Amino acid sequence: KNQTHQTLITMHEHAKKFFHHILVNTEAGKEAMAYLESRDIPKDVIEEFEIGFAPDNRQILLKVMEKEFDETFYGQSGLFIERDDGSYTDRFVNRIMFPIKDAQGKTIGFSGRMMPSEQAQQDVKQPKYLNSPETEIFNKRDVIYNFHLARPHIRKSNDVFLFEGFMDVISSHMSGVKNAVATMGTSLTEQQINRLERVCQDVTIVYDGDAAGINATNRAVELLTDNTTLGVQVVMLPNRLDPDEYRKTYGLEALENELKHHQLTVFQFKKQFLSQEFNLDNESDVLTYLDLVLQELAKIPSVIEKDFALTQLSEEYHVSKDTLQIQLNSFIQSNKAHQF
Ligand code: ATP
Ligand code: MN
Ligand code: MN
Ligand code: MN
Repeated sequence: KNQTHQTLITMHEHAKKFFHHILVNTEAGKEAMAYLESRDIPKDVIEEFEIGFAPDNRQILLKVMEKEFDETFYGQSGLFIERDDGSYTDRFVNRIMFPIKDAQGKTIGFSGRMMPSEQAQQDVKQPKYLNSPETEIFNKRDVIYNFHLARPHIRKSNDVFLFEGFMDVISSHMSGVKNAVATMGTSLTEQQINRLERVCQDVTIVYDGDAAGINATNRAVELLTDNTTLGVQVVMLPNRLDPDEYRKTYGLEALENELKHHQLTVFQFKKQFLSQEFNLDNESDVLTYLDLVLQELAKIPSVIEKDFALTQLSEEYHVSKDTLQIQLNSFIQSNKAHQF
């Protein structure tokens, strides 16, 4: 079993080098290279993340592997698709390849991004990102993208930035924020949280600025605050941008500035998140909103943050601070009552 494991990793290391070579050195990789250039991804970053390209040919990786690996490994590697007649074809075709590595830096899977030319075709119903299937070496719920490169930076800063996408991690890295990781397009899992807890005390969530990203942020905040002792911060990017789009629009320094200097506390995030669900020109909406905000505030341990928030709410909604304090105290009391 251990032997199989090792063989599958060796196959992935070969595939990674092959795809990277195609992208960087061959005519077949030109269009993909031009696309990455159009997204302002420089050569040294392509090298560091070992990005590659799987050409538009269903047999090419198969030919590379035929020379060195026994066919018994093809199915379980996840790199190929088995046809009805028992023969194999490449799984990843005409895609930009992001190697997914384990904590030791060994390649255990891939995510392949569709080319923009195919994305433009309406009739093509393919996923934008195609991931390796679950295999003996690749477990999506366990893997954290870029954990291997980010780990020393996470340890040093005692903080990790958590993104939605591969390109967001790469943009963060380019801006100098190298303690950057992502999940594999799924929500955060217990295994991933356990890994992070072992190397740092703080998490900063930087998901996409669209509605899906904001809702996912709220779920991640709940998960982390309810189940861990990790400190949680949130960065919310404007205009529905994701971190990579933000970098492309405003530049590397602007992204670095957002990441480092515009972190919201959990309460500040909740306040903003809740405000989207109400029409705050309407008095009865304001009352419900203030109730929910105070319920969130009741969960915050910091006395200073509570006092600061009450002052702010009092000024914003023209309610006396004393009244807000009374309501807040009653929520704090009922939270305590629920604990016993
Ligand atoms: P790009 O910038 O290359 O267009 P993105 O990272 O902004 O891509 P999103 O649509 O925001 O793409 O998705 C975020 C992440 O979710 C992706 O990086 C990928 O990990 C995952 N993902 C997106 N689409 C799919 C899909 N169809 N299947 C599996 N995972 C996906
Ligand atoms: Mn998204
Ligand atoms: Mn995105
Ligand atoms: Mn994007």
